[in-house]
Amino acid sequence: MAEARAPHVALLSSPGMGHLFPIAEFTKRLVLDHGFTATIITYTDFNSTTQLHSYFTTLPPSISSLSLPSVPLDDLPPDTRMEARLCVLAARSAPSVRALLLSLRSSANLVAYVTDIFGADTFRDARGLGVPTYMFFTSNYFMLSFMFHLPTLDATTSCEFRDLPEPLQLPGCVPLRGVDFLDPLEHRADAAYPWVVHMARRFRDCDGILVNSFLAMEPDAARALSEAEAGRPPVLPVGPIVRPGSGGSGSECVAWLDGQPRGSVLFVSFGSGGSITCEQTKELALGLESSGQRFLWVVRTPSDSVANAAFFGIETGAADPLDCLPEGFLSRTRSSGLVVPNWAPQMEVLAHGAVGGFLSHCGWNSTLESVVHGVPMIAWPLYAEQRMNAVMLVEGAKVALRPSTAGEKGLVGRDEICKVVKELMEGEGGKVVRDRVLELKKAAIETICEGGTSYSALAGVVKKWKYNVEA
Ligand code: UDP
Repeated sequence: MAEARAPHVALLSSPGMGHLFPIAEFTKRLVLDHGFTATIITYTDFNSTTQLHSYFTTLPPSISSLSLPSVPLDDLPPDTRMEARLCVLAARSAPSVRALLLSLRSSANLVAYVTDIFGADTFRDARGLGVPTYMFFTSNYFMLSFMFHLPTLDATTSCEFRDLPEPLQLPGCVPLRGVDFLDPLEHRADAAYPWVVHMARRFRDCDGILVNSFLAMEPDAARALSEAEAGRPPVLPVGPIVRPGSGGSGSECVAWLDGQPRGSVLFVSFGSGGSITCEQTKELALGLESSGQRFLWVVRTPSDSVANAAFFGIETGAADPLDCLPEGFLSRTRSSGLVVPNWAPQMEVLAHGAVGGFLSHCGWNSTLESVVHGVPMIAWPLYAEQRMNAVMLVEGAKVALRPSTAGEKGLVGRDEICKVVKELMEGEGGKVVRDRVLELKKAAIETICEGGTSYSALAGVVKKWKYNVEA
């Protein structure tokens, strides 16, 4: 008798570590805990990262990876935003995705197709082929609720969102001012704007949405989206899904942290691609120094653009990241701080007992990583949906403090930095967010263990894919 073939899932991820890491971790769960085999489909364009290549070599053998053929993007104006580039890349790659799904359907026991948000243009094709089609949402309920509402907002308003007279009140969410909407929507005339609205419309074309968040983090928003609504696919929490650390030894950062007192170090990092200006780098350095707190700072080459090519792991070979630091800063802070250029093993750092706070750009993976390690944050959003995340973390989940900005360029001055850093590390406000993040850490662990909500939601989806039955 022929052996039954393992159920197979195809997953499409856009470039950028913030999407590839969680999609690959989700795939690992399917393969290691539920007996699936899987193919992760990536784009050839924008995927040159060393970190990603080494990470992919650690994936279990029953996960294959395939790259889509490269597509020409050289007709796009040079100033086209990253989000618009990704949308065009995804749209132009849709025929190749269809061909790949057809081929997997005949060669494997293909039971489901999963994409991140940039794959939304392939939902209809995949369902047309009879393949159950899901979105893995790499952000939170707040952002998902916003995306569901965006087509209506687009149709019923005509001003720039920053000029909306009232904050947006999404069901179960904290009020959101127009200035905090995700940044590709900042200007209606920008090429990225219609693409984001178009993607938001496509969200309704899949069979279900799996959110990398969890109930305790956003209880009211999650409840609102779990109510059935005609035309809206079911929404299920499967998070927090984060990368495991690699054990914590062998890096300069961990060796340095080993010598610091418990809970005393502020980790400062802006994700895989965030940059701040030279002027802001100087203010941050002087603020950290005058706070007198210990810090571990991942310094990037300053840039006027908040998201840079490093987001895709593309080494720019640009100026030395440390060039903008104030004269004498490194020697003056040698005993209390460590500055590392470009990259740190973030999971190992956050897991280290010496780390007591995280000044973060509020990327959703960084946020989840901080929460599962019980580390409170200073919210310093830069691009994508990070301002929305910051609002939710400060006003909703209450696990972060946020410094005020000044002037048109939104500079955060050294005194403000000093104040917020001291408050997080030693003040009453810091104690409140630390207690709260420890509660959420406990809930995060419980929810992904047997009997937890995220565990059960994933088990239900798995059952549906494997046996074609409702959980
Ligand atoms: N990351 C890391 N070291 C760094 C910078 C980033 O390990 O120096 C990882 C981080 O742990 C997270 C991912 O890169 O898993 C960044 O994802 P996130 O969603 O936080 O932000 P993005 O880079 O997508 O803006």
